[in-house]
Amino acid sequence: MTFQQIKEQDHMYVLPTYGRVDAALVKGQNARAWDVDGKEYIDFTAGIGVNALGYSDPEWAAAVAEQAGKIQHLCNYYYSPENTALAQELSEASGMAKAFFCNSGAEANECAIKVARKYGEKRGAYKIVTLHNSFHGRTLTTLAATGQEGFHKDFLPLTEGFVYAEAGDLAGIEALLDGSVCGVLLEMVQGEGGVIPMDESFVQGLAQLCKEKDVLLLVDEVQTGVGRTGSFFAYQGYGVEPDVVTCAKGIAGGLPMGACLVSERLGDILKPGMQGSTFGGNPIASAGARVVVRRVSDPAFLESVREKGAYFREKLEAMPQVEYVRGRGLMIGVKLKDKDAHEVLAECAKAGLLILTAKELVRFLPPLTITQEDMDQGLAIFQKVLEQ
Ligand SMILES: *Cc1c(COP(=O)(O)O)cnc(C)c1O
Repeated sequence: MTFQQIKEQDHMYVLPTYGRVDAALVKGQNARAWDVDGKEYIDFTAGIGVNALGYSDPEWAAAVAEQAGKIQHLCNYYYSPENTALAQELSEASGMAKAFFCNSGAEANECAIKVARKYGEKRGAYKIVTLHNSFHGRTLTTLAATGQEGFHKDFLPLTEGFVYAEAGDLAGIEALLDGSVCGVLLEMVQGEGGVIPMDESFVQGLAQLCKEKDVLLLVDEVQTGVGRTGSFFAYQGYGVEPDVVTCAKGIAGGLPMGACLVSERLGDILKPGMQGSTFGGNPIASAGARVVVRRVSDPAFLESVREKGAYFREKLEAMPQVEYVRGRGLMIGVKLKDKDAHEVLAECAKAGLLILTAKELVRFLPPLTITQEDMDQGLAIFQKVLEQ
Protein backbone atom coordinates (compact mmCIF):
# COMPACT_ATOMS: atom_id res chain seq x y z
CA MET A 1 0.00 0.00 0.00
CA THR A 2 1.15 3.55 -0.71
CA PHE A 3 1.13 6.22 1.96
CA GLN A 4 -1.89 7.86 0.31
CA GLN A 5 -3.86 4.61 0.47
CA ILE A 6 -3.00 4.14 4.16
CA LYS A 7 -4.07 7.67 4.93
CA GLU A 8 -7.36 7.23 3.09
CA GLN A 9 -8.01 3.95 4.86
CA ASP A 10 -7.39 5.62 8.21
CA HIS A 11 -9.77 8.46 7.38
CA MET A 12 -12.39 6.00 6.20
CA TYR A 13 -12.26 3.45 9.03
CA VAL A 14 -10.57 4.91 12.13
CA LEU A 15 -12.25 7.43 14.41
CA PRO A 16 -10.53 10.76 13.87
CA THR A 17 -9.40 11.24 17.48
CA TYR A 18 -5.78 12.04 16.55
CA GLY A 19 -4.29 14.88 14.58
CA ARG A 20 -1.78 12.76 12.68
CA VAL A 21 1.49 13.63 10.97
CA ASP A 22 2.05 12.55 7.35
CA ALA A 23 4.19 9.47 8.03
CA ALA A 24 3.35 5.77 8.27
CA LEU A 25 6.10 4.00 10.18
CA VAL A 26 6.74 0.36 9.41
CA LYS A 27 10.18 -0.38 10.86
CA GLY A 28 12.53 0.89 13.52
CA GLN A 29 15.84 0.30 15.20
CA ASN A 30 16.68 2.11 18.42
CA ALA A 31 16.24 5.82 17.60
CA ARG A 32 15.82 5.36 13.85
CA ALA A 33 12.56 4.63 12.10
CA TRP A 34 11.55 4.05 8.48
CA ASP A 35 8.27 4.85 6.83
CA VAL A 36 6.36 2.91 4.20
CA ASP A 37 8.31 4.69 1.43
CA GLY A 38 11.66 3.77 2.98
CA LYS A 39 12.38 7.27 4.23
CA GLU A 40 14.54 7.33 7.38
CA TYR A 41 13.78 9.36 10.51
CA ILE A 42 15.60 10.13 13.72
CA ASP A 43 13.13 9.52 16.50
CA PHE A 44 12.92 11.89 19.49
CA THR A 45 9.50 10.52 20.55
CA ALA A 46 9.92 6.85 21.45
CA GLY A 47 6.16 6.62 20.89
CA ILE A 48 5.47 9.28 23.58
CA GLY A 49 8.05 7.82 25.92
CA VAL A 50 6.96 4.22 25.45
CA ASN A 51 9.85 2.58 23.63
CA ALA A 52 12.27 3.06 26.51
CA LEU A 53 14.88 0.85 24.85
CA GLY A 54 14.15 2.21 21.39
CA TYR A 55 12.55 0.37 18.50
CA SER A 56 12.94 -3.40 18.47
CA ASP A 57 15.80 -3.73 20.94
CA PRO A 58 17.24 -7.21 20.20
CA GLU A 59 17.27 -8.44 23.82
CA TRP A 60 13.74 -7.15 24.45
CA ALA A 61 12.43 -8.58 21.15
CA ALA A 62 13.99 -11.99 21.91
CA ALA A 63 12.44 -12.12 25.40
CA VAL A 64 9.02 -11.16 24.02
CA ALA A 65 9.21 -13.66 21.15
CA GLU A 66 10.39 -16.43 23.45
CA GLN A 67 7.53 -15.79 25.86
CA ALA A 68 5.01 -15.76 22.98
CA GLY A 69 6.22 -19.22 22.05
CA LYS A 70 5.85 -20.52 25.63
CA ILE A 71 2.60 -19.16 27.02
CA GLN A 72 1.05 -15.90 25.85
CA HIS A 73 -1.70 -15.44 28.42
CA LEU A 74 -3.22 -17.10 31.43
CA CYS A 75 -6.12 -15.95 33.48
CA ASN A 76 -5.51 -14.37 36.83
CA TYR A 77 -6.84 -17.48 38.64
CA TYR A 78 -3.34 -18.90 38.21
CA TYR A 79 0.13 -17.82 39.23
CA SER A 80 2.35 -16.37 36.50
CA PRO A 81 6.10 -16.70 37.23
CA GLU A 82 7.02 -14.12 34.60
CA ASN A 83 4.73 -11.61 36.32
CA THR A 84 5.70 -12.43 39.91
CA ALA A 85 9.38 -12.02 38.97
CA LEU A 86 8.59 -8.63 37.42
CA ALA A 87 6.71 -7.56 40.54
CA GLN A 88 9.74 -8.35 42.73
CA GLU A 89 12.12 -6.57 40.36
CA LEU A 90 9.87 -3.47 40.28
CA SER A 91 9.70 -3.50 44.07
CA GLU A 92 13.50 -3.67 44.30
CA ALA A 93 13.93 -0.85 41.78
CA SER A 94 11.36 1.46 43.38
CA GLY A 95 11.25 0.70 47.10
CA MET A 96 7.48 0.20 46.79
CA ALA A 97 6.09 -3.00 48.27
CA LYS A 98 3.49 -4.50 45.94
CA ALA A 99 2.06 -4.02 42.45
CA PHE A 100 -1.28 -4.31 40.69
CA PHE A 101 -0.88 -4.77 36.93
CA CYS A 102 -3.13 -3.39 34.21
CA ASN A 103 -2.73 -2.17 30.64
CA SER A 104 -2.46 1.59 30.52
CA GLY A 105 -1.68 4.73 32.45
CA ALA A 106 -5.32 5.69 32.90
CA GLU A 107 -6.08 2.27 34.36
CA ALA A 108 -3.09 2.48 36.69
CA ASN A 109 -4.40 5.84 37.94
CA GLU A 110 -7.91 4.41 38.34
CA CYS A 111 -6.37 1.81 40.64
CA ALA A 112 -4.48 4.47 42.60
CA ILE A 113 -7.74 6.39 43.05
CA LYS A 114 -9.52 3.23 44.23
CA VAL A 115 -6.72 2.56 46.73
CA ALA A 116 -7.08 6.10 48.10
CA ARG A 117 -10.88 5.88 48.25
CA LYS A 118 -10.63 2.56 50.09
CA TYR A 119 -8.08 4.09 52.46
CA GLY A 120 -10.43 6.96 53.33
CA GLU A 121 -13.65 4.96 53.22
CA LYS A 122 -14.17 4.38 56.93
CA ARG A 123 -13.85 8.04 57.85
CA GLY A 124 -15.78 9.33 54.83
CA ALA A 125 -12.73 10.82 53.11
CA TYR A 126 -13.20 10.35 49.36
CA LYS A 127 -11.92 13.46 47.60
CA ILE A 128 -8.67 13.57 45.68
CA VAL A 129 -6.68 16.76 45.23
CA THR A 130 -4.98 17.12 41.85
CA LEU A 131 -3.13 20.02 40.25
CA HIS A 132 -4.19 22.51 37.63
CA ASN A 133 -2.55 21.72 34.30
CA SER A 134 -2.09 18.04 35.21
CA PHE A 135 -2.81 15.08 32.97
CA HIS A 136 -3.90 11.72 34.35
CA GLY A 137 -5.76 9.96 31.51
CA ARG A 138 -8.87 9.79 29.35
CA THR A 139 -11.32 7.59 31.25
CA LEU A 140 -14.14 9.58 32.84
CA THR A 141 -12.54 9.33 36.29
CA THR A 142 -8.98 10.13 35.22
CA LEU A 143 -10.38 12.98 33.10
CA ALA A 144 -11.92 14.31 36.29
CA ALA A 145 -8.49 13.96 37.91
CA THR A 146 -6.94 15.87 34.99
CA GLY A 147 -6.88 19.52 36.03
CA GLN A 148 -7.60 20.98 32.60
CA GLU A 149 -11.06 22.30 31.70
CA GLY A 150 -10.45 21.75 28.01
CA PHE A 151 -10.45 17.99 28.43
CA HIS A 152 -13.64 17.99 30.53
CA LYS A 153 -16.11 20.14 28.70
CA ASP A 154 -17.48 17.68 26.13
CA PHE A 155 -18.05 14.80 28.53
CA LEU A 156 -19.86 16.11 31.58
CA PRO A 157 -20.76 15.02 34.15
CA LEU A 158 -17.49 13.43 35.21
CA THR A 159 -16.78 11.35 38.30
CA GLU A 160 -17.22 13.57 41.34
CA GLY A 161 -14.83 14.03 44.21
CA PHE A 162 -11.90 15.83 42.57
CA VAL A 163 -10.66 19.21 43.74
CA TYR A 164 -7.88 21.19 42.15
CA ALA A 165 -4.96 23.18 43.46
CA GLU A 166 -2.11 25.22 42.05
CA ALA A 167 1.31 23.56 41.75
CA GLY A 168 3.61 25.08 44.37
CA ASP A 169 0.74 26.33 46.55
CA LEU A 170 1.17 24.32 49.74
CA ALA A 171 -1.09 26.61 51.77
CA GLY A 172 -3.84 26.28 49.18
CA ILE A 173 -3.60 22.49 49.35
CA GLU A 174 -3.56 22.52 53.14
CA ALA A 175 -6.79 24.54 53.09
CA LEU A 176 -8.41 21.81 50.98
CA LEU A 177 -7.44 19.01 53.39
CA ASP A 178 -10.53 19.31 55.59
CA GLY A 179 -11.04 15.65 56.41
CA SER A 180 -12.96 14.85 53.22
CA VAL A 181 -9.75 14.25 51.24
CA CYS A 182 -8.12 10.80 50.99
CA GLY A 183 -5.31 11.51 48.53
CA VAL A 184 -3.23 14.02 46.60
CA LEU A 185 -2.30 12.95 43.07
CA LEU A 186 0.42 14.65 41.05
CA GLU A 187 3.11 14.28 38.40
CA MET A 188 6.70 15.12 39.40
CA VAL A 189 7.10 16.69 35.97
CA GLN A 190 3.83 17.63 34.28
CA GLY A 191 4.17 16.06 30.85
CA GLU A 192 1.18 16.88 28.68
CA GLY A 193 0.84 20.14 30.62
CA GLY A 194 4.07 21.46 29.09
CA VAL A 195 7.04 19.60 30.66
CA ILE A 196 6.89 21.47 33.96
CA PRO A 197 9.02 20.05 36.81
CA MET A 198 7.68 20.50 40.33
CA ASP A 199 9.88 22.39 42.80
CA GLU A 200 11.75 20.14 45.19
CA SER A 201 10.64 22.14 48.25
CA PHE A 202 6.99 21.93 47.14
CA VAL A 203 7.14 18.16 46.70
CA GLN A 204 8.89 17.62 50.02
CA GLY A 205 6.51 19.96 51.81
CA LEU A 206 3.55 18.19 50.23
CA ALA A 207 4.84 14.77 51.32
CA GLN A 208 5.16 16.11 54.87
CA LEU A 209 1.69 17.65 54.76
CA CYS A 210 0.14 14.40 53.52
CA LYS A 211 1.77 12.54 56.40
CA GLU A 212 0.47 15.03 58.97
CA LYS A 213 -3.08 14.95 57.58
CA ASP A 214 -3.16 11.19 56.98
CA VAL A 215 -3.76 11.71 53.27
CA LEU A 216 -2.14 9.44 50.69
CA LEU A 217 0.55 10.85 48.40
CA LEU A 218 -0.14 9.43 44.95
CA VAL A 219 2.51 9.99 42.29
CA ASP A 220 1.61 9.59 38.62
CA GLU A 221 4.83 8.35 37.02
CA VAL A 222 3.16 7.23 33.82
CA GLN A 223 5.37 9.55 31.77
CA THR A 224 8.22 10.31 34.17
CA GLY A 225 8.79 6.72 35.31
CA VAL A 226 11.16 3.95 34.28
CA GLY A 227 14.31 5.99 33.85
CA ARG A 228 12.85 8.85 31.82
CA THR A 229 14.04 11.60 34.17
CA GLY A 230 17.37 10.00 35.10
CA SER A 231 16.27 8.16 38.23
CA PHE A 232 14.23 4.95 38.04
CA PHE A 233 11.19 6.90 39.21
CA ALA A 234 11.21 10.69 39.26
CA TYR A 235 10.13 10.81 42.94
CA GLN A 236 13.43 9.15 43.85
CA GLY A 237 15.12 12.29 42.52
CA TYR A 238 12.92 14.37 44.86
CA GLY A 239 13.77 12.39 47.99
CA VAL A 240 10.16 11.55 48.94
CA GLU A 241 8.44 8.24 49.67
CA PRO A 242 4.97 8.15 48.09
CA ASP A 243 2.18 5.86 49.25
CA VAL A 244 1.12 4.96 45.73
CA VAL A 245 2.99 5.20 42.42
CA THR A 246 1.56 4.57 38.96
CA CYS A 247 3.50 3.78 35.82
CA ALA A 248 2.76 2.68 32.27
CA LYS A 249 4.19 4.14 29.03
CA GLY A 250 7.83 2.97 29.15
CA ILE A 251 7.42 0.08 31.57
CA ALA A 252 7.16 -2.78 29.04
CA GLY A 253 9.26 -1.20 26.31
CA GLY A 254 6.37 -0.87 23.84
CA LEU A 255 3.81 -3.43 24.99
CA PRO A 256 0.63 -2.34 26.76
CA MET A 257 1.19 -2.46 30.50
CA GLY A 258 0.39 -0.29 33.48
CA ALA A 259 1.14 -0.81 37.13
CA CYS A 260 -0.03 0.67 40.40
CA LEU A 261 2.57 0.24 43.13
CA VAL A 262 1.76 0.65 46.81
CA SER A 263 3.87 1.06 49.93
CA GLU A 264 4.18 -1.58 52.64
CA ARG A 265 1.31 -0.34 54.83
CA LEU A 266 -1.11 -0.45 51.87
CA GLY A 267 -0.08 -3.95 50.81
CA ASP A 268 -3.35 -5.54 51.90
CA ILE A 269 -5.79 -2.70 51.29
CA LEU A 270 -7.40 -4.25 48.20
CA LYS A 271 -8.88 -7.67 48.90
CA PRO A 272 -9.71 -10.41 46.36
CA GLY A 273 -12.46 -9.18 44.02
CA MET A 274 -11.89 -5.47 44.62
CA GLN A 275 -9.79 -4.87 41.52
CA GLY A 276 -8.95 -6.81 38.39
CA SER A 277 -7.99 -6.70 34.73
CA THR A 278 -8.25 -9.54 32.22
CA PHE A 279 -4.97 -8.71 30.52
CA GLY A 280 -3.24 -7.32 33.63
CA GLY A 281 0.18 -8.86 34.20
CA ASN A 282 0.12 -10.60 30.82
CA PRO A 283 3.26 -12.81 30.52
CA ILE A 284 4.41 -11.38 27.18
CA ALA A 285 4.19 -7.80 28.47
CA SER A 286 5.83 -8.96 31.69
CA ALA A 287 8.71 -10.60 29.80
CA GLY A 288 9.31 -7.34 27.91
CA ALA A 289 9.03 -5.31 31.11
CA ARG A 290 11.59 -7.49 32.90
CA VAL A 291 14.20 -6.63 30.25
CA VAL A 292 13.34 -2.93 30.56
CA VAL A 293 13.45 -2.91 34.37
CA ARG A 294 16.73 -4.82 34.55
CA ARG A 295 18.49 -2.58 32.03
CA VAL A 296 17.06 0.74 33.21
CA SER A 297 17.56 0.18 36.96
CA ASP A 298 21.34 -0.19 36.44
CA PRO A 299 22.91 2.95 38.00
CA ALA A 300 25.26 3.32 35.02
CA PHE A 301 22.26 3.34 32.65
CA LEU A 302 20.51 6.01 34.73
CA GLU A 303 23.72 8.05 34.79
CA SER A 304 23.82 7.87 30.97
CA VAL A 305 20.23 9.20 30.81
CA ARG A 306 21.22 12.19 32.95
CA GLU A 307 24.30 12.81 30.76
CA LYS A 308 22.32 12.62 27.54
CA GLY A 309 19.71 14.94 29.01
CA ALA A 310 22.41 17.46 29.94
CA TYR A 311 23.85 17.21 26.42
CA PHE A 312 20.46 17.90 24.83
CA ARG A 313 19.92 20.85 27.13
CA GLU A 314 23.34 22.35 26.37
CA LYS A 315 22.92 22.01 22.59
CA LEU A 316 19.34 23.34 22.64
CA GLU A 317 20.14 26.30 24.85
CA ALA A 318 22.86 27.30 22.37
CA MET A 319 20.31 27.59 19.55
CA PRO A 320 19.39 31.27 19.05
CA GLN A 321 15.73 30.46 18.25
CA VAL A 322 15.27 28.74 21.63
CA GLU A 323 13.80 30.80 24.47
CA TYR A 324 14.30 28.20 27.22
CA VAL A 325 14.63 24.48 27.87
CA ARG A 326 13.04 22.69 30.82
CA GLY A 327 12.51 19.15 32.06
CA ARG A 328 14.52 16.37 33.68
CA GLY A 329 16.77 13.77 32.10
CA LEU A 330 15.41 12.77 28.70
CA MET A 331 12.05 14.46 29.27
CA ILE A 332 12.72 17.74 27.53
CA GLY A 333 10.53 20.73 26.75
CA VAL A 334 11.74 23.47 24.42
CA LYS A 335 10.09 26.89 24.22
CA LEU A 336 10.78 28.57 20.91
CA LYS A 337 11.02 32.34 20.58
CA ASP A 338 9.00 32.91 17.42
CA LYS A 339 8.05 29.63 15.84
CA ASP A 340 4.90 27.62 16.44
CA ALA A 341 5.70 24.22 17.97
CA HIS A 342 3.08 22.41 15.87
CA GLU A 343 4.42 23.85 12.63
CA VAL A 344 7.96 22.92 13.67
CA LEU A 345 6.76 19.36 14.35
CA ALA A 346 5.37 19.07 10.80
CA GLU A 347 8.53 20.61 9.29
CA CYS A 348 10.76 18.27 11.31
CA ALA A 349 8.85 15.22 10.05
CA LYS A 350 9.40 16.39 6.47
CA ALA A 351 13.10 16.85 7.25
CA GLY A 352 13.43 13.38 8.83
CA LEU A 353 13.03 14.04 12.56
CA LEU A 354 10.13 12.87 14.72
CA ILE A 355 9.30 15.12 17.69
CA LEU A 356 6.36 15.85 20.00
CA THR A 357 4.71 18.93 21.42
CA ALA A 358 3.32 19.68 24.88
CA LYS A 359 1.08 22.75 24.98
CA GLU A 360 3.09 25.45 23.20
CA LEU A 361 6.43 23.71 23.71
CA VAL A 362 8.32 21.29 21.52
CA ARG A 363 8.82 18.09 23.51
CA PHE A 364 11.48 15.40 23.14
CA LEU A 365 11.13 11.95 24.76
CA PRO A 366 13.83 10.06 22.86
CA PRO A 367 14.57 6.40 23.58
CA LEU A 368 16.75 6.19 26.69
CA THR A 369 19.22 4.18 24.59
CA ILE A 370 19.70 6.88 21.93
CA THR A 371 23.28 7.04 20.63
CA GLN A 372 25.53 10.09 20.42
CA GLU A 373 25.38 9.95 16.63
CA ASP A 374 21.56 9.93 16.59
CA MET A 375 21.34 12.76 19.12
CA ASP A 376 23.68 14.85 16.97
CA GLN A 377 21.95 14.02 13.71
CA GLY A 378 18.50 14.78 15.16
CA LEU A 379 19.65 18.02 16.74
CA ALA A 380 21.23 19.09 13.44
CA ILE A 381 17.90 18.54 11.65
CA PHE A 382 16.10 20.45 14.41
CA GLN A 383 18.53 23.36 14.11
CA LYS A 384 18.06 23.45 10.34
CA VAL A 385 14.28 23.52 10.66
CA LEU A 386 14.50 26.38 13.17
CA GLU A 387 16.71 28.31 10.74
CA GLN A 388 14.19 28.02 7.88
C1 LIG B 1 0.04 9.30 29.14
C2 LIG B 1 -0.29 9.62 30.52
C3 LIG B 1 -1.40 9.05 31.17
C4 LIG B 1 -2.38 8.16 30.44
O1 LIG B 1 -1.81 6.97 30.01
P1 LIG B 1 -2.60 6.04 28.97
O2 LIG B 1 -1.72 4.82 28.85
O3 LIG B 1 -2.72 6.81 27.69
O4 LIG B 1 -3.91 5.73 29.57
C5 LIG B 1 -1.60 9.33 32.50
N1 LIG B 1 -0.76 10.12 33.19
C6 LIG B 1 0.31 10.70 32.61
C7 LIG B 1 1.22 11.55 33.43
C8 LIG B 1 0.58 10.48 31.25
O5 LIG B 1 1.62 11.07 30.67
